[in-house]
Amino acid sequence: MEGRLQENIKSIYRRMAHAAMRTGRGPDEVKLIAVSKNVSADLLKKAIEAGLRDFGENRVQEFREKRQLLSQEIRFKSPETHCGYSVCWHLIGHLQKNKAKDAVALFDVIQSVDSAELAGLINILAEKAGKIQRIFIQVKLSHEVSKHGILKEDIMHILNVLEGMQNLRIEGLMTIPPFFEDPEKARPFFRELREIRDRAGAMGFKIAELSMGMSHDFEIAIEEGATMVRVGTAIFGERKKEAA
Ligand SMILES: *Cc1c(COP(=O)(O)O)cnc(C)c1O
Repeated sequence: MEGRLQENIKSIYRRMAHAAMRTGRGPDEVKLIAVSKNVSADLLKKAIEAGLRDFGENRVQEFREKRQLLSQEIRFKSPETHCGYSVCWHLIGHLQKNKAKDAVALFDVIQSVDSAELAGLINILAEKAGKIQRIFIQVKLSHEVSKHGILKEDIMHILNVLEGMQNLRIEGLMTIPPFFEDPEKARPFFRELREIRDRAGAMGFKIAELSMGMSHDFEIAIEEGATMVRVGTAIFGERKKEAA
């Protein structure tokens, strides 16, 4: 597995670089978030040793348990990453309100903020924790598929609401398009998220990041402007079936 892991990572970085170059961007302008949900603490540690720095988890409880199995030394202060530590943790799954306190304690970036209410709660908890919580807004672009997320027509409103929350820093938008066999079909969704970001930018909201693209469609997402791709299967292999 270790040799395989190295190979997978190398191949993904190569494909990411090519996709970035096709849009005139440099290879370091897109971040790889390794999605380590359902991955053991052991394998996660190997991925860190293999050089990965950003990890995405979708369940607070699972990550808290895993984090306890990893030695404290695995994360040390480092000026080389965006989070200031050797490893940065991202929450990418729906956050229940009763887990929000743990999430604020555990994650550098919460990418799955999907309601003004949840944002308000995170803001209060972050203030109590003496932290500025970095967040992304999860955008729901299609009615059928993704359960969670803020409807695109409500984005400007929520940005206005969140602007007053002192302990939040809104850095980006995240989306999960419907699954298509043909990844080309996801392209309009990625494009739409970029357009929303650009419209928000024109109204004075500085939300630079676009977290979009997964194992089967990350190159298309990068061609449409992704600044972060969230890749699990292509790094770690097929996951065991997820518990409900
Ligand atoms: C699981 C997951 C991913 C990664 O999916 P893969 O197809 O394994 O690359 C990305 N984003 C979110 C929100 C996920 O839940």
